[in-house]
Amino acid sequence: MIYQRSSALFAEAKKYIPGGVNSPVRAFKAVGGDPIFVKKAKGAYLYDEDGNKLIDYIASWGPLILGHAYEPVINAVIEKAKNGTSFGMPTEIETELAKLAISMVPNMDKIRFVNSGTEACMSAVRLARGYTGKDKIIKFAGCYHGHSDSFLIQAGSGAVTFGSPNSPGVTQGTAKDTLLADYNDLEGVKKLVKANKGELAAIIIEPIAGNMGCIVPTDSFMKGLREICTQENILLIFDEVMTGFRLARGGAQEVLNVKADIVTYGKVIGGGLPVGAFAAKSEIMDFLAPDGPVYQAGTLSGNPLAMSAGLAMLTELNNKPAVFQSLSDKTEYLHKGIAKVLTAKGVDHQINRFGSMISVHFTDEPVVDFASSAKGDNETFKAYFHGMLAKGIYLPPSAFESYFLNDALTYADLDATIKALEGIQL
Ligand SMILES: *Cc1c(COP(=O)(O)O)cnc(C)c1O
Repeated sequence: MIYQRSSALFAEAKKYIPGGVNSPVRAFKAVGGDPIFVKKAKGAYLYDEDGNKLIDYIASWGPLILGHAYEPVINAVIEKAKNGTSFGMPTEIETELAKLAISMVPNMDKIRFVNSGTEACMSAVRLARGYTGKDKIIKFAGCYHGHSDSFLIQAGSGAVTFGSPNSPGVTQGTAKDTLLADYNDLEGVKKLVKANKGELAAIIIEPIAGNMGCIVPTDSFMKGLREICTQENILLIFDEVMTGFRLARGGAQEVLNVKADIVTYGKVIGGGLPVGAFAAKSEIMDFLAPDGPVYQAGTLSGNPLAMSAGLAMLTELNNKPAVFQSLSDKTEYLHKGIAKVLTAKGVDHQINRFGSMISVHFTDEPVVDFASSAKGDNETFKAYFHGMLAKGIYLPPSAFESYFLNDALTYADLDATIKALEGIQL
């Protein structure tokens, strides 16, 4: 396939937009080459500016779980837009979406809508700090919680007591309140909690990690985190921006059978429009302005178009919970197909999968945390990525990203993907 026009558009974009993109991973830095400019999409397929048709495994990084341009969502947005796009006043649809979302997930009384996953996580931590009266948080190396200052803290090797900023612009003052632990390492968490007794407001985690490839927590790790948080009066925040309404109606809380104190949402909850949200029991949520002292606001929060997309999406998922099994079955099929081809080629690999999230790592060691994920061979990944792209298969352009299957993918698409892999030299 030829991607000529995309390259020309990228060159033009770079003149006016930093790096030519409005979110860095889109720029293909990890794999090299120019990004694809998309013109339109329908179901499982992207149609780019060169007229190519690609099978999409990203689904806008997760939101489009039922496929692109899903009619109930599109129609809801079109109808809503006719009555105006924003009012800065309350609308009934906000309550409708809130009520539905809360009915689908365990353990939550109230929810507030924002415009992105970043805002949801940033606000959740502020709320946790306000509610507990404590400052520090623990996050896990390789987990992504959006780009707000507190979360842009990189892993050091081994146990790190004080985080060091990994982005210029994050102050040391902010970084010192974010402590780092390794995913699936309960002992490391225990040590940090002990060393910072009485100072921790929250532990925030991706309950199934998807930003260092897909990484599944062990049962004892998750249950252990819950126990520590309860014992030490620390709020457990599940960042379900990726997993919420994707793994099950009730997200990771439901599938792992672990209750969080605050849960953040994004991606699927907006059906492809910009929506984030955070939820908790009333006791915690009532700490938010205007009822409580913790300030949080947004001119476009609860935007009617975004709410209508979210409502249409969650209504579909709520009415058709079989879709989660269908997605999981497709993902398993893809897993087996890819594994078979890579094994036949003699290429070292690990495939991690949970529900409709899956990632392929070119290493012979199990991938259980950031360090093991980082051991994947990037040259092989690049060859894999570009080989697949040349055959019209659009995979995430970084080994640290999970694929997100959408239910418009057919078994014929999956077979075509596996067959494409057969033809690639790794
Ligand atoms: C995508 C993502 C975010 C950030 O959401 P944005 O809408 O991009 O700001 C936060 N947490 C997780 C787990 C995510 O996958």
